[in-house]
Amino acid sequence: MLQYEDAKLIVWSDFDGTITLQDSNDYLTDHLGFGSERRKELNQQVLYESVTFRDSFEEMLGSVKHPFEECKQALLENITLDPHFAAFYDWCTARQIPVVVVSSGMEPIIRSLLIRLLGERAHHTHIISNDVHVNADGSWHIIFHDESHFGHDKSLAIKPYKQLVADGKLKMVYCGDGVSDLSAAKETNLLFAKEGRDLVDYCKRQNVPYTEFDSFADIHAAVRQLYEGDATLEDIAANRQSV
Ligand SMILES: [Mg+2]
Repeated sequence: MLQYEDAKLIVWSDFDGTITLQDSNDYLTDHLGFGSERRKELNQQVLYESVTFRDSFEEMLGSVKHPFEECKQALLENITLDPHFAAFYDWCTARQIPVVVVSSGMEPIIRSLLIRLLGERAHHTHIISNDVHVNADGSWHIIFHDESHFGHDKSLAIKPYKQLVADGKLKMVYCGDGVSDLSAAKETNLLFAKEGRDLVDYCKRQNVPYTEFDSFADIHAAVRQLYEGDATLEDIAANRQSV
């Protein structure tokens, strides 16, 4: 049985650069690892498919030699969340609309950042992501979610709901910003892609329909229209101005 079988609407969201304003893994790599130059080279290679996301991510995180707790603390001090996300999250929760975080990042870091913003309620947020193994000396490495070349294939969690969508019983939206969202981007009815980010370039190159967003205020307005029946998925997808 599917966890959200009775939901009428599910919001799937990337975390880094989508719910947060900065990418926490980029931050780790740029400030505590080998730096932004090599990181950007790898990002381009992933976008043009000469390196897998998984291999590039492992190389980036492998360059970070600081203990895990120190990394987490640096992120808590430097990563901020979209100021409109908390209101959106509460609005969805009050209406039993699941907001599921699907991330290529690491669960303990995501949970810590969400708890700082949302407080106790973030203990219950559904997060599907990679994990971390921390050794006694504080050194650590990522534990990938699955065997895919993404490390975490975000489409795996979404695919089981596609039949409900096909039957007209469920609507799904996806919010993302980057190359790690590629596998999920094609699976939902409505894709919100963050303005000016890699996911927009990818969608253009691959002819994947998308709606641009600047903050969760845009997504909130669109999801409210969907929920209240003032707009269809097609309306929102067709007209950026309606968001
Ligand atoms: Mg992202």
